[in-house]
Amino acid sequence: MTKWVYRFGGGKADGSADMRRLLGGKGANLAEMSSLGLPVPPGFTITTAVCTAYYANAKQYPDELAAQVDEAVAAIEAEVGNTFGDADNPLLVSVRSGAPVSMPGMMDTVLNLGLNDITVEGLAARSNDPRFAWDSYRRFIQMYGDVVLGVDHYLFEDQLEDVKQSKGFIQDTDLTADDLKQLVAGYKAVVEKELGTPFPQDVREQLWGAIGAVFGSWMTERAVTYRRLHDIDARMGTAVTVQAMVFGNMGTDCATGVAFTRNPSTGEHAYYGEYLINAQGEDVVAGIRTPQPLTVHMANGDPSGERAMELVMPKAFAELSAVFDKLELHYRDMQDIEFTVQQDKLYILQTRNGKRTARAALKVAVDMVEEGLLSPEEAVLRVDPISLDQLLHPSLDPDAERKVIAKGLPASPGAVSGAVVFSADDAQKRAQAGEAVILVRTETSPEDIHGMHAALGILTARGGMTSHAAVVARGMGKACVAGAGDVSVDEARKRFTVAGVTVKEGDIVTLDGGTGTVMEGRVPTVEPELSGEFGTLMAWADKVRRLKVRTNAETPEDARTAVRFGAEGIGLCRTEHMFFDEDRIVAMREMILAADAEGRKAALARILEHQRGDFVELFEIMAGLPVTIRLLDPPLHEFLPHTTKELEAVAAASGLSAKALKRRAMELHEVNPMLGMRGCRLGVVFPEVYDMQVRAIFEAASEVFARSGATVTPEIMVPLVGFARELEMIKARIDAIHSEVAKETGRELPYLVGTMIELPRAALRAAEIAEHAAFFSFGTNDLTQMALGLSRDDSGKFMDLYQRANIFERDPFASLDIEGVGELMSIAAERGRATRGDIKLGVCGEHGGDPRSIHFCETVGLEYVSCSPYRVPIARLAAAQAALSTDSSEPTRAAAE
Ligand code: ADP
Ligand code: MG
Ligand code: MG
Repeated sequence: MTKWVYRFGGGKADGSADMRRLLGGKGANLAEMSSLGLPVPPGFTITTAVCTAYYANAKQYPDELAAQVDEAVAAIEAEVGNTFGDADNPLLVSVRSGAPVSMPGMMDTVLNLGLNDITVEGLAARSNDPRFAWDSYRRFIQMYGDVVLGVDHYLFEDQLEDVKQSKGFIQDTDLTADDLKQLVAGYKAVVEKELGTPFPQDVREQLWGAIGAVFGSWMTERAVTYRRLHDIDARMGTAVTVQAMVFGNMGTDCATGVAFTRNPSTGEHAYYGEYLINAQGEDVVAGIRTPQPLTVHMANGDPSGERAMELVMPKAFAELSAVFDKLELHYRDMQDIEFTVQQDKLYILQTRNGKRTARAALKVAVDMVEEGLLSPEEAVLRVDPISLDQLLHPSLDPDAERKVIAKGLPASPGAVSGAVVFSADDAQKRAQAGEAVILVRTETSPEDIHGMHAALGILTARGGMTSHAAVVARGMGKACVAGAGDVSVDEARKRFTVAGVTVKEGDIVTLDGGTGTVMEGRVPTVEPELSGEFGTLMAWADKVRRLKVRTNAETPEDARTAVRFGAEGIGLCRTEHMFFDEDRIVAMREMILAADAEGRKAALARILEHQRGDFVELFEIMAGLPVTIRLLDPPLHEFLPHTTKELEAVAAASGLSAKALKRRAMELHEVNPMLGMRGCRLGVVFPEVYDMQVRAIFEAASEVFARSGATVTPEIMVPLVGFARELEMIKARIDAIHSEVAKETGRELPYLVGTMIELPRAALRAAEIAEHAAFFSFGTNDLTQMALGLSRDDSGKFMDLYQRANIFERDPFASLDIEGVGELMSIAAERGRATRGDIKLGVCGEHGGDPRSIHFCETVGLEYVSCSPYRVPIARLAAAQAALSTDSSEPTRAAAE
């Protein structure tokens, strides 16, 4: 018989922390904590295998499930001494979802299940607290109504507001038992009106309804979107945990809270969290009342420090800090903990590795090595490479003028400016059109995920440091200012007002998520100062990594940035960009439009100077590091004059008639330029162009040597080779020019000639191409286009659908198609090495900065990856993780969940 249900409680458990695949993160950690002897209310977890079976069998549960659930409920009853559905002494439970990978806010939990018109009286009598019993019942109807029965939660909230208003109350806690009783009647009427049937009174029906709702929530739109954005496998399924309730809403010696064992924003080694007295469940994150800080230290001088948990509930706080220390030591990572205090007694309801900013991740990892908790290699594996992006980007210029219009909580760091929008859809629309946007909401909810993803920054008027907006923004690495209480958001009219200022949709504001400030207009930024922890961790990463990291750069500015970030050479210098300057483009056009080789040479002679100057500058910045220069690649028509004015400029410079020029332009027109006269075909057909570029490269290398004594080894890269003969012809000319320049300068400088592998034919015929190539650089952008027969510029129209339909697991232009394009790379590497054992192999597409693709490059044994300058640190860390990872197929998932 399959075991579908795993119990925990009373100091023991069937499961353990390493069973998250089967029990979900929440269930596995509840089991682990129970075995550790921590105060966890007893319960059981229905496995993710049930979820999988449920969807595989037309939403039918496995046969043995019902009996196993009954047994497990009976075990809870025995442990706590209450009975499910009992009129006098009812057991109440929560029904909680939990996937193997944490999906914050994606699934809904139902609390206080087991209450009905009869058991509520029993609970009131037993607890001697009718107010508490009716508060629990009204909470239950609202949650169950919303989550399980699909009744709009606004209908309940309206009722609540009505009662509060009629009584002149501000806080929920002001409501009396009678008010709550009246509210329950109102809530039940809402359900009956909406559904045509009364609220379910049978507690087993309630239980199965909630279990079904959790499994159902696995496939909701928002869960599907979240999984896609976070690259989570949909086949995993969710588990369901059913657990005895403990109550934070039984009076002023009760509370509920969330806490981190360290500061998730800065990494500071100090407890961090919020709690609310006389409250339940997600009251803390829902922003209904303003939560209080856990510690005085955290309040940082703010008067709220007087109501810190350590002062108000010293006994429970002492228990809590003991639990913190125990859990950190046990999991060897910063923990994010949910707890409830019932009549001064502490209960732990959840723990998981805490989400954190990149800055905090670095500090926690480095601190934990110093504390002896982790080895440097483990620390390297702890930081998500992509998250470093947050640190590498600019912050507000401290000297810049700014007009601060609002202050909120520093929920997630980053300084960003953009146009204000008021809905997730608007954010997505404008972002797709290329605009930088700031999403402004009263508070965010899981329905806003796509908009948060599209926005550069998020501003909310309500909610604390652990609100939905704050948690999700930190996870996504977006700047976020949360709970800016003075901001009054009018979502319908698309504007907000604060301190007499009205900001309308499309107006520019600047957010500083590190300080929680909101500023009018655009505030200038400065380059980041990288922390000591960054340097320490990167040094550890560099020690273990095998792959070298180069950069794709053609401008001096990019090259300098990359070197500052640790680039070990240039893997791709695209020379075409060097032709687009205003003074060069005319000469370039003359060259293209020239009637014969003589005309081309004259124009090229003028470009040569410029090219040489560019290379000299790059070589000097790279100071002896390897520089791979790709000869001209794009189809010539890209340089052609488009307007009459441009045409006339070329005519004037070249002395040709505008009419003749137009005719030549027509001749060069191609139906399908991507597959036309481009890449090495240009070099074969118009050899003067490459001759000029090669001469510029050698002269520049010679000049730099003469000036500084630095020997650069230019790696001359021929693009779009498909046939060995193409490379052979072009290489012969390169060698000849090298001899010429050597003769002229009296200096023999080293150089390499190689090719890009970007055509499937080149990958297959790599053995003979390698006879002429000292190196291969996989141009994975084009190789992906050519192998998939897919234009990157046109794939946007169906990319989303293709990913949803599971045709593409992920965007193949962002993350390498390992099965297809990856196999071509493996073939090329193997066949190239068979001809030339020491052939240098690298990758220079977009994929060179993608951790998953880098992991694959490690397994193929490439020598280097090359990526854009800001990606260099990301690639260094990803390469280190790839080297450390023992699993050959999957990249290491940093401990984000
Ligand atoms: P989420 O995944 O959204 O965090 P949880 O299942 O953790 O949902 O439930 C949310 C909150 O509900 C918990 O943080 C806790 O405060 C409360 N809760 C859940 N189960 C119980 C329980 N058995 N007793 C008391 N409170 C509970
Ligand atoms: Mg939640
Ligand atoms: Mg939780």
